[in-house]
Amino acid sequence: MISVEQALDRILGYIRVLDSDEVPILDCLGQVLAEEVSATFNIPPRDNSAMDGYAVRSQDTQGASRQSPRRLRVLGTAAAGAVSDYALLPGTAVRIMTGAFLPQGADSVVRFEDTDEASREGMAEIGIQREVAEGWDIRRAGEDIARGARVLGRGTVISPAEIGVLASLGRTTVRVIRRPVVAILTTGDELVDAGEPLPEGKIYNSNGYSLAALVRFYGGIPKMLGIARDSETSVVAGLRGGLDADMLVTSGGVSRGDYDVVKDVLAKQGEISFWTVCMKPGKPLAFGVIKGDRDIPHLGLPGNPVSVMVTFEMFVRPAILKMLGKQPLNKPTIDAIIENTVANTDGRRVYARVIVSKRQGQYFARLTGPQGSGILTSVSRANG
Ligand code: AMP
Ligand code: MG
Repeated sequence: MISVEQALDRILGYIRVLDSDEVPILDCLGQVLAEEVSATFNIPPRDNSAMDGYAVRSQDTQGASRQSPRRLRVLGTAAAGAVSDYALLPGTAVRIMTGAFLPQGADSVVRFEDTDEASREGMAEIGIQREVAEGWDIRRAGEDIARGARVLGRGTVISPAEIGVLASLGRTTVRVIRRPVVAILTTGDELVDAGEPLPEGKIYNSNGYSLAALVRFYGGIPKMLGIARDSETSVVAGLRGGLDADMLVTSGGVSRGDYDVVKDVLAKQGEISFWTVCMKPGKPLAFGVIKGDRDIPHLGLPGNPVSVMVTFEMFVRPAILKMLGKQPLNKPTIDAIIENTVANTDGRRVYARVIVSKRQGQYFARLTGPQGSGILTSVSRANG
């Protein structure tokens, strides 16, 4: 029996960070940047107004108050997106909208609320009702991103904010570490896919779907190879469809059942080792490398639907994250007080499905119900 950590170490020893790809910026959410992104222009491009108001020379507002407003002549309106050629002389102001470039000679903005604009709309004069200092309510050229600055470094995980930053730089595509294609083959004579009638004695294939969803959830591209029967020819034929993938995951057929052919097949197709991992659920695990034009790591997960999801989280998830160039590989953990009795009969590490809640600054974990390795709803009800 090997520990979860030993199993993971051995698996990760075969996993490499993938190469990169240039993709549309909206397609790279959660991927890792494989280039340095720097700015060829300032953002914002020029000094502009942070408020709707009046662009002024701050010295013209000296001593202004509600009781004694300073009257300034209005030269016109500067709108965002339009380039105007207003130039402020002493005693003048330009009505300005948020984002509009600051007119020549202006050094500050007085927002509408601090003027008598409401009572004098369209007037040729405006009453300024407060003093402002130089730079007031102005956004400086390059204050977000300065021309020439390195904006996003290699290794950055692309979140919605990074996608916005890339768009603000005018980028439509970006180079990121590509997503791994993970081929998924489920095995079992008892399996039928959803959408088909369910004959007596058969069950619907859930593992293929939970696995595909997990692959997508962690940033990979699932390639569903369907259901293989418990025969060598069927498993071999099924595996063939995964030879262009970056990783292959199978479910079922790795335990000591009568029809467990996956391990026999894999022993012929490449290197394979069978591990008994000190964990519950999910004890039997197969790991190997399928030899072909290029070697493909293969993880043979147990068949039980809960074991499949737990072993995926512990072993396939870190492999996907490593291929994606991500860190850290471990799942986040917290300390919580368990509120049920959890039986650990044989010393294996138990991965119980729990509902975690926080009360008075302390986490508590409650079992989701019966924890049998076939009870998939024990996972769907859990948040930890
Ligand atoms: P195995 O490891 O192949 O012996 O499977 C263990 C248990 O998991 C059996 O009860 C199977 O019926 C069940 N099982 C195996 N594969 C699937 C699957 N793809 N979807 C749902 N249940 C499965
Ligand atoms: Mg089976």
